[in-house]
Amino acid sequence: RAPATGSAQPSQSQPATVAVAVHTPAHSALGDLLSYTSAQPLAPGTLVRVPLGQREVLGVVWDGTPAPLPEGMATRSVAAVLDGIAPLDIHWRRLVAFAARYYQRSLGEIALAALPPQLRDLSHEQLARRLRRPAKPAGKGAAARANTAPAPADANPRAASALHGATDHPAAVDTVVGAAASAASAASAASAASAASAAENATPLIALSAEQQVVLAQIGSNPGPFLLFGSTGSGKTEVYLRCVQTALEARPGAQALVMVPEINLTPQLEARFTERFGTARVVSLHSGMTNPQRLKSWLAAHSGQARIVLGTRMAVFASMPQLALIVVDEEHDASYKQQEGARYSARDLAIWRAREQHAKVILGSATPSLESWHASRPATPDDPQGGRYLRLHMPSRIGAGKLPVLRVVNMNHQPRRTVFSAPLLAALQERIERGEQCMILLNRRGYAPVLHCADCDWKSDCPHCSAHQVFHKTDRSLRCHHCGFAQRVPRACPGCGSPDITPIGRGTEQLEEQLSALLADVRRPDGAPARVARIDADTTRAQGALEAQLAQVHAGDIDVLVGTQMIAKGHDFRRITLVAAVQPDGALFSSDFRAPERLFALLMQASGRAGRDADYVAAQGSRSEMWLQTFHPEHAIVAALRQHDYPAFAAQQLDERQGAAMPPFAFQALVRADARTQEVAQGFLRAASQAATDAALPGLEHVTLYPPVPLTIQRVANVERAQMLLESDSRAALQRFLAAWQALLHHTRAQSAHKALVRWLVDVDPLVI
Ligand code: ADP
Ligand code: ZN
Ligand code: ZN
Repeated sequence: RAPATGSAQPSQSQPATVAVAVHTPAHSALGDLLSYTSAQPLAPGTLVRVPLGQREVLGVVWDGTPAPLPEGMATRSVAAVLDGIAPLDIHWRRLVAFAARYYQRSLGEIALAALPPQLRDLSHEQLARRLRRPAKPAGKGAAARANTAPAPADANPRAASALHGATDHPAAVDTVVGAAASAASAASAASAASAASAAENATPLIALSAEQQVVLAQIGSNPGPFLLFGSTGSGKTEVYLRCVQTALEARPGAQALVMVPEINLTPQLEARFTERFGTARVVSLHSGMTNPQRLKSWLAAHSGQARIVLGTRMAVFASMPQLALIVVDEEHDASYKQQEGARYSARDLAIWRAREQHAKVILGSATPSLESWHASRPATPDDPQGGRYLRLHMPSRIGAGKLPVLRVVNMNHQPRRTVFSAPLLAALQERIERGEQCMILLNRRGYAPVLHCADCDWKSDCPHCSAHQVFHKTDRSLRCHHCGFAQRVPRACPGCGSPDITPIGRGTEQLEEQLSALLADVRRPDGAPARVARIDADTTRAQGALEAQLAQVHAGDIDVLVGTQMIAKGHDFRRITLVAAVQPDGALFSSDFRAPERLFALLMQASGRAGRDADYVAAQGSRSEMWLQTFHPEHAIVAALRQHDYPAFAAQQLDERQGAAMPPFAFQALVRADARTQEVAQGFLRAASQAATDAALPGLEHVTLYPPVPLTIQRVANVERAQMLLESDSRAALQRFLAAWQALLHHTRAQSAHKALVRWLVDVDPLVI
């Protein structure tokens, strides 16, 4: 570790002053672009280690000159330069700067969070050792080429994959870094790889459907952004694969970024990409990876050796100097919005990034977000401009597979407390006896949402939150899903001692238990009893557990799969012919204005799990069905689901939103305050709001500030939470206002005598209100 003395660098030549983005402690008065001196001038984007307080931290040399340090503070010198890694380019820096500005966070926070943890956490020596390990004697460039490009004879992508498996060897990391160190070698590696892709083109590809061809032609001849509105199973992934291929061939070294909501849930996508493009050119970036794996992937993308990055929302910040295409699959998915810290939307940043870097961008979904749907509205006489996106439509399922038929069970006509209606049970039995699989969806894990004492009305409330502790029967625990607090289930009521405490309501655990009992006498074609299994966050905690359970479903060892929305997303189950949502009603009357949109998407997606293999369904003489048990069969969502009519649903919802001046017809931000008491939290928000009015901040005339309110779950882990909604019909005005307000928010907090104020944060374009 270089000593962080803080003295100026002793050197004959005049030392240069550079601005360095660092992650300073929250709300530091210093800002986060700090001055350092360096013996040599350093290019913007260069990674450096610099002293900060008593520590030495990673920083990124930034453009421009920083504000002078406060009186009495000496400029310290850069401790080390990570010259084994090429500087981060202007596109990456602009993206980071935009995200920081738009989401009201500090530049340093976004910049440092966008880098792989090991770059930050390894000491300079540890990192340098990894970067400096000698490359192959043949020279860095040659070594990089040898590892990057398959021999032209590798026409068979499977063979290529096997060959590329060699890059998984640790030594390959050094090769990657070697390439990163030298722009020239990276470029030669890239052109060698593009020759390889030409070779792979020779492999026979499936013939495209007419709809796929039209869509690809449109993407080829328009600038975009594109919204690919395609049914589940319509072949969207194949479209992505072709677009990636076209993008990579269009210019040497070109790169593509493909984002999915949860990569852990879609190992099949990874397989499809590596099969098509070879493992050496495809890397992943998601939080399920180890830190060394993430560093390796990140370096491969940064150096240009990796041509395709598959990742979750964090991947939107990957350094990809030659980015030519971004795909955002399942673009409506809420997990693209980060829900803590910097609350960015990876989908929205993808749109911005693509424009800035002159890359194409494709958003894909069977149930687009209403924002994207609205942004892709066709031009009409009343609206000659239309939306900014080009909407592309693929309505048909590949193989002429029919979308599932909707079966609605009116629960008003079922005996009270029915969980599984008789017709649904009969349908399950019929399918199990034919050897088909079924899926039951419930959005609540655990056994029961609450334990209750009939004698004294005691409920299993979390002592730290304004929420119930959920009863988990498997390990006889009461667990709070908000703060994690867990206890053993009491033998008797803690309020009155009555032994008569009972679960109320149902979670996935209970469904699994009841269903196993109800289907106990049902036999599969092989004579074995029906097997019911559950997949949710509780059964998949262990590393590899999800993969193992999914493999069991694919292998046909499981007849009925019970689970949360985790099982509804993306999986390509071939033998599922029936999907049922047993208690979807909660979302129909939620106070969250996006609840119907989310429910519709979930049910459409779930129904997309049924009958994916048309030949199988036909051979079985079966038909694919989506079942809905509801007390509100007349609800508009039900009609839209029956017709598989997303456009009708979207039109109705957008109408409501327009009438109520809600997104996408208005722009929102939330300010949240967390404190020891509700009074302090709300008081802070009121004071900040008053300060904004007093100062007549720019943009204020277009922004409505609503009064502070407690959050729905107002106390979590003993912290009281309040929020204030801001709304505007102009995104620009809201942005102007928020930017000007930052300083006042800091000031209001500093003025607040209350140590009890824990923190505040701004959420721009919040998904949950
Ligand atoms: P989506 O992503 O829209 O749900 P996929 O791309 O996964 O759909 O396609 C569904 C299935 O159809 C996959 O098994 C895929 O391999 C297959 N498929 C896609 N395009 C074609 C095509 N043109 N011809 C034959 N099969 C196709
Ligand atoms: Zn009691
Ligand atoms: Zn709790």
